[in-house]
Amino acid sequence: MPECIFCRIVRGTQASTKIFEDDNMIAFLDFKPITKGHILIIPKKHTELLTELEDNLAGGMIVLAKKIGKALRKSKLNCHAVNYIMSDGAEAGQRIFHVHMHVIPRYRGDGFGLRMPERDEDEEDEKKLERTAAKIRKVFER
Ligand SMILES: [Zn+2]
Repeated sequence: MPECIFCRIVRGTQASTKIFEDDNMIAFLDFKPITKGHILIIPKKHTELLTELEDNLAGGMIVLAKKIGKALRKSKLNCHAVNYIMSDGAEAGQRIFHVHMHVIPRYRGDGFGLRMPERDEDEEDEKKLERTAAKIRKVFER
């Protein structure tokens, strides 16, 4: 199986425009930016899903995202807001199966948005919400 593109970036066999790098993480500009300054944060260790990632690395991704968000806001890009997006699994839209977070600077009128499906009104019933919560709580691990 060919090495994943993010692992190639980590190893330096795939070029990238880095914003930040340390022992655990790399942040680099997306090759196909949704908006100007669109950044990807990846852990260096190949892990497919956020749910499989070690806690310290998952936490480190959020801390780095926060710092990058600050930099974007201070930069001359003049961004007004930032979206932090992770897709965990194919049905969530994940295409590269190496954990990554999109840090997307937002500009007024940039045209980007998340599409929301019709709400399932059937699921708004309080008893149904309680049954749904019970299914999740039953397997929740602290
Ligand atoms: Zn990888």
